[in-house]
Amino acid sequence: MKRAVVCAILLVMPVRSAAPTSAQRLAAGSRLAENARVRAALDWLNHNLSWVIDTQARLTEIPAPPFQEESRAAAVGELLGESGLTVHTDKIGNVIGEFRGENESEMVVLSAHLDTVFPAGTNVKVHRDGNRMMAPGISDNGTGIAALVAIARALQFAHVKPERTIWFVGNVGEEGEGNLRGMRELVESYRPKLKAVVVLDGSGTDHVTTRALASRRLEATIMGPGGHSWSDFGMPNPINALIRGSVRFINTKIPAGPRTTFNIGQIEGGTSVNSVPHEARIKVDIRSENEQELARLESALRESIAAGVRDEMDPPRDRSKGSLEWKVELLGSRPGGELSKDSPLLAALRAADEFIGNQSRMERSSTDANIPLSLGIDAISIGAGGTGGGAHSLQEWYDAVGREVGLKRALLTILGISGVAEEKAR
Ligand SMILES: [Zn+2]
Repeated sequence: MKRAVVCAILLVMPVRSAAPTSAQRLAAGSRLAENARVRAALDWLNHNLSWVIDTQARLTEIPAPPFQEESRAAAVGELLGESGLTVHTDKIGNVIGEFRGENESEMVVLSAHLDTVFPAGTNVKVHRDGNRMMAPGISDNGTGIAALVAIARALQFAHVKPERTIWFVGNVGEEGEGNLRGMRELVESYRPKLKAVVVLDGSGTDHVTTRALASRRLEATIMGPGGHSWSDFGMPNPINALIRGSVRFINTKIPAGPRTTFNIGQIEGGTSVNSVPHEARIKVDIRSENEQELARLESALRESIAAGVRDEMDPPRDRSKGSLEWKVELLGSRPGGELSKDSPLLAALRAADEFIGNQSRMERSSTDANIPLSLGIDAISIGAGGTGGGAHSLQEWYDAVGREVGLKRALLTILGISGVAEEKAR
């Protein structure tokens, strides 16, 4: 078990005591690519770019609305199976292809989310014009899932044997209300064995997400007896209370740094203009670079709503006409976290960048990597190459020019962290 860790580190980091220099990283990336089988895998990518683009179009045309990823998961499972991986689907719907390493007691994950933001019935037909394709979801995350199956195929074709086992995962529930449930399930189930996660999300090679933006989504609801605007006047009014509480909440002080934001994004309630409503609610999104600020804002929302209810019940209100109840519920939570600057995973990514001559900047964002990062497991999220735009819109597009750079970057990064087993004499 120890040996695998040492191997992986040696592959990517000649000097453990300090962050590796650019020359050392270049040496590490070159050494990995000196392995004849790794080179053959990189070559496979060069020669099969039209297969990757066809596969991307085919998978994008299988609808995968939130909570309805089954058909696309099945297609990805079939492709991973064709590459010789042992495939299974877990209880939440993630499709997992196992690429067994020399050391089966440790694993690393390469993942791409299957789901889109588009509801069932959206036209997902791909319009192609050479390297350019247009369709909802073509880039986010057609690019990621196509890269996932392509890298599995390249490694299998080249008979690469990793040191740690690599799991190729098409996961559910990344977008919106999915609330990262696919990645949550995966990490919770395999936490003891799981050493690193590389998330492929969208296109590009220009960034690496190493910091997870924490966010919470909350719903505050106030309930009362409800009645007639004239005859029940004096009865406590949930909309009044919600307004009083909301005004208190939006006056909450926000620090200049760490960057922290809130948004009341939806408000609803009431039945008619001449009724005292029996219910009113708001939905609130809060985000912060700092987990404590998030907790502080959530408490501020609870206190504000409670105070709004108290204000509404204050005299001269006639208390014989009923009282109000309130609740604040968590609709979703994405925990924060940060990859350590001297982590072997970041070194592996940097070594891959050096080898392919790529420069990338570190970013903070909300991705599947939030879950492992929040639990202290090394994780990054990267694009899978090419360029794209219009994510989450019907005009989404993808251009595959330069995609091989992103594919090689992902392949070298995952092998840098899994390690490659020594070839045995035959
Ligand atoms: Zn995405």
